[in-house]
This record gives sequence, structure tokens and C-alpha cells, in this order.
Amino acid sequence: MSRAYNFCAGPATLPEAVLRQARDEMLDWRGTGMSVMEMSHRSDDFVQIAETAEQDLRDLAGVSDDYAVLFMQGGASSQFSMIPLNLLGDKTGADYVNTGIWSKKAIAEARRYGEINVAASSEDSGFTTIPDQAAWQTRADAAYLHYTPNETIGGLEFDFVPDSGDVPLVADMSSTLLSRPLDVSKFGLIYAGAQKNIGPSGLVVVIIRKDLLGKARKETPTMMNYQVIADNDSMYNTPATYSWYLAGLVFKWLKEQGGVQAMGEINLRKARKLYDFIDGSDFYANPIERRFRSWMNVPFTLADNALDNEFLKGADARGLLNLKGHRSVGGMRASIYNALPEAGVDALIGYMAEFARERG
Ligand code: PMP
Repeated sequence: MSRAYNFCAGPATLPEAVLRQARDEMLDWRGTGMSVMEMSHRSDDFVQIAETAEQDLRDLAGVSDDYAVLFMQGGASSQFSMIPLNLLGDKTGADYVNTGIWSKKAIAEARRYGEINVAASSEDSGFTTIPDQAAWQTRADAAYLHYTPNETIGGLEFDFVPDSGDVPLVADMSSTLLSRPLDVSKFGLIYAGAQKNIGPSGLVVVIIRKDLLGKARKETPTMMNYQVIADNDSMYNTPATYSWYLAGLVFKWLKEQGGVQAMGEINLRKARKLYDFIDGSDFYANPIERRFRSWMNVPFTLADNALDNEFLKGADARGLLNLKGHRSVGGMRASIYNALPEAGVDALIGYMAEFARERG
């Protein structure tokens, strides 16, 4: 059996060492005679798995005791409604920055619950840049300011953390959390679907400053109330136990790699290599303003899109999988998350060079 390089945007490639460990522990987790999948979430063994995972995530991301860490379900998409339901409180509205498809989805959902002001948008540029913060129309009385640090589909990424003053900053970090160091203290709430840098799908990590708990609207479903989830250590109901366990293995693996500092250096090197190759070629192109290019998701087009299918077929034959761009934008996209080895980026560049030589 050989493992391919999987460039999928999510569910995404996982560290091979993690998969091997999960395989070894599949039938009998450390002498318990059962798989983690079969354990009661209330058992001492699972509670230990869960608590260790939380502590490792806190260590990796530098999350202080001022924050609760929640392991939730419903995908990052459910957070689009949970955030306004929980954070609007007695305020009438919130501010959002629109930098792409995921921002737009968050905005559309929030509009069901409050008066949403789009403080800035880069839609006019085709989402190829981030609007200068000096021009944002934010409101001092907004309940929060929401933005998407990395737009997974567009490949557009903030290279700064917005200054939101006293207004809590809320960030959809689905495709960037744990890819590099982060100052959590600048945020009111961070959320991330797990299926990119954290683990398998079925899990969403929410990091919320504790003073923001307890403001949920009366009609908020119990399962969507952050306070309830926090009070019950994310076990108000049955959590996604196996995903939580696998996330824990990924956190241990990340620590062994040197944590987010080391990952950040590797990720930057991987991304630079690929963008430098694209920029140096007249066959491939990436439209994003350089400073805002994503380290995680690298969209690119071929000079002639009639060659797209041939490019993808050749890539598949070489074990370079899932390079087809999102259905809404076309072209190609290489997602190069933490677990995608640098050798995979080298192999991709090698194939791209060969294809351009032969077909360009
Ligand atoms: N936000 C971002 C930035 C994403 O990349 C995604 C998924 N690709 C989502 C939200 C939605 O995540 P989910 O499918 O877990 O709801």
C-alpha cells in the first residue's frame, strides 16, 4: 500500500503517524479491550482522552484560563448561526468583513438574527485582496466584529489581525488554526471546523473568552448555547468521541513537530515554493495580491483551461490527488495543510513543471 499526496481542502490529509497509531489502537485502546469508538463518553478513559486533547490544544495555541475550549458538532457552518444567537446579547447588530464565499455564508446566516453591517468588502476586486482596515466602516456599538482570516476557496488570507478596539473579535479559523503562532488574547471567539488542520470532520473547536458566555438569546436551542456546552465540558450530549480522540492524536503529533512555531516555518516555506514556481511560470497563474496569499490553500489556473482535465488525470496518475478547484471557481487548488508534507509540494511542483513543458 502506498499513500498518495492528498491536496483536498477538507476533509484533508492527516499525519501518517496519527493514522498508524489509530490503527494500532483501533481494536483495543491501551488494554481496555475496546475501541475508543465504543467507549462511553462518561468513562474515565474517554474523559482522560478528552481532557488531554483540550490541554494539548491549549498548550499549542496558547489558550489561557480566560477562555473556554468547546468541542462541538454541526460543522463550522452551524457556528454561523450560533455566533449571533450567543453574542448579540442586548445589542442590535454586529459587523462583518466580507472577503469571500465563507464570509458571505456567515453574513447571510447572521442576518436572520440581527442587523448586520458589512464593514468592508473586497468583492469588487473578485476577492483578490483584503480592504485596508483604515477604511472599514465598523461601529463602536457592534456586538462583535466577524472576519474570516483564511478564505479556503479563494485562497485569500489576512496577514494581520484586525484591531477591533473594545468590540470582541470573532474569527472563522477553520482553515488556518494551528498553521502558525497566534495571539489568542486578541480574540473574543475563534472557531474552526476540524477537518483541515485538526482531525477528521464531525468536530468544531470553539475558543471563547469566558466573559462572552451567558449572553445567549432566550430562544437559543440548548445544544447551541455556549454556556451550556461550557458548563458540561462539551458533554451535554454525546460528543463526536472518535473525532475528538483523533484530534488529540494530531495535537500530540503537532507538539512532536515543534508546535505551531515550527509548523509556521514549514508552512511558509511550502507556500513560498509553490507561489514562486507559479509566479515564475507563464503557464500557471494565481490572482491574489501577494501579501494576502493563503499559506494553506493555493488556487491556480492553467493558461488554457481546456487542459484542466488532462492536468488532473496526469496528477492522479502520479498520486497527486484532489487538485480540482472548488466547483464555484474552477481551475485548480492545492491545499497544503500541516499534514501535507513538504515532499508533496515538491512532487506537485515537479509535475506542474513537466506538464507545462510538454503541453504549455
Ligand atoms: N468556514 C471555512 C473557512 C471553511 O473552509 C469551511 C469548510 N470548508 C466552513 C466554514 C464550513 O465548514 P463545515 O463544512 O464544517 O460546516
